[in-house]
Amino acid sequence: MLPQTRLKLLFVTPEVTPLVKTGGLADVSAALPAALRELGVDVRILLPGYSRVMEALPDKRLAAKLLNTGFHGEVQLLEAALPDSGVPLLVIDYPQFYERDGGPYIDHNGHDWVDNAQRFALLSKIGAILGGPSSPLDWRPDIVQCNDWQSGLTPAYLHFSPPPGAATIMTIHNMAFQGIFPPLLTTALGLPPSSYSVNGVEYYGQLSFLKAGVFYANHITTVSPTYAEEIQEEPLGFGMQGLLDHRYLDLTGIVNGIDIHEWNPATDKYLPHHYSADDLSGKAANKRTLQHKLGLAENPDIPLLGVVSRLTYQKGLDLLPAIVPALLGHPVQIVILGSGEAALEEEFIALAQAHPDQIAAVIGFNEGLSHLIEAGADIFLMPSRFEPCGLNQMYSQCYGTPPVVHATGGLRDTVVDATPENMNNGTATGFVFNHATVHGLQACITRALDAYGDKNRWNRIQVNGMRRDFSWNKSAREYLALYEEVLQRI
Ligand code: ADP
Repeated sequence: MLPQTRLKLLFVTPEVTPLVKTGGLADVSAALPAALRELGVDVRILLPGYSRVMEALPDKRLAAKLLNTGFHGEVQLLEAALPDSGVPLLVIDYPQFYERDGGPYIDHNGHDWVDNAQRFALLSKIGAILGGPSSPLDWRPDIVQCNDWQSGLTPAYLHFSPPPGAATIMTIHNMAFQGIFPPLLTTALGLPPSSYSVNGVEYYGQLSFLKAGVFYANHITTVSPTYAEEIQEEPLGFGMQGLLDHRYLDLTGIVNGIDIHEWNPATDKYLPHHYSADDLSGKAANKRTLQHKLGLAENPDIPLLGVVSRLTYQKGLDLLPAIVPALLGHPVQIVILGSGEAALEEEFIALAQAHPDQIAAVIGFNEGLSHLIEAGADIFLMPSRFEPCGLNQMYSQCYGTPPVVHATGGLRDTVVDATPENMNNGTATGFVFNHATVHGLQACITRALDAYGDKNRWNRIQVNGMRRDFSWNKSAREYLALYEEVLQRI
């Protein structure tokens, strides 16, 4: 039996693990509703019926047929349940938009689908219909939570619909993606001409779905308190800093949790050796396995620096090659797993070929290896230029692999720098640097290597991180408190 509460939440998202995933949003869309459900929230997830979603859900039932959506013909709404957690799903069955080969946003050639504006306006519109008085369902949400630009028009549609409507929350997972389209589409997508204004959906001469959400939603959230501050200023506000600054009282940052069943060194299915804060011997064994697997010198005492990342400008890993010559003057090993910009991939491959004993680079996506690196490395590197929340720095703390991070977004909020004060009060879990430059990164790695040389100090930093609670439960409670506060306020 679930605890009783009256709060009903519609969670509108373009992706959800394990059905369809291009990034961290999919993980949040699975884990947060599941954690909220544990707290008694009556939550349903609304998502498009892409081919892979339809195929992965054999048990679907027709929930409603919608005729007046503003889109051609009939739209069907199907009911199903998310595998594993059983969270109820509402799937939009509209094959002409969603059932095609390719990704959710791009085709096989890497080009955006030409009808993305229509495809995600429909997702937004169904979210608004289900949150409004003309919903065909008996179930009426108190709150509609929209995630990223793909559902950004929901608050606008609800704003221009007859009352009563659900309260809306716009959740920003990354400001860098804004859903920008030609202005003419504003009315074609069923919004009134008056909405195309600075006080509306207009964004530097274009229609922006994210701007629509940020402008019309009752409340805005993002995925860490520091990122909530950063997006109120240039450059991370991506042109919306003025609006976000204006709405700062309606803007809350809540850090994401991590899946503590998937990411637990005591039970991790990908690890050959399990371990915990009470006994770290399995970690040393994983390090040996990692060194062996990647052809590095099998020496337990050489500090091993690990990277698992998209190789893009955001992640700041272009800063690393410049300091490799200086680093290799020390006994040090570096393992990189990632893919992204071709020039950076090639640079890391060349470095690995030149120093096969000390550097290994694996280009591609490899879930198992990512777990082994988190477990087998001594120090984890995450010099992101910006990071709305970030997950790997939390995984690495749980795995006794203190991270070296740039003080930005969620990295700043989840890693406690090993200053003398934080060492004394028992909170230090990693190493934080203020400027995303070659020198900033180099000085911070040097600091981490010095600490590694003092086994007692190092063990304290490891254990502090391993004992922290990064579970979703804490974040879900913060969301629930926020929902209640928003409902009281409006
Ligand atoms: P972002 O969503 O910006 O890429 P996050 O740190 O929030 O960054 O999440 C990235 C997720 O993808 C993490 O779970 C990370 O381990 C995983 N990941 C990234 N690159 C790879 C890779 N090459 N192989 C395996 N997992 C990866």
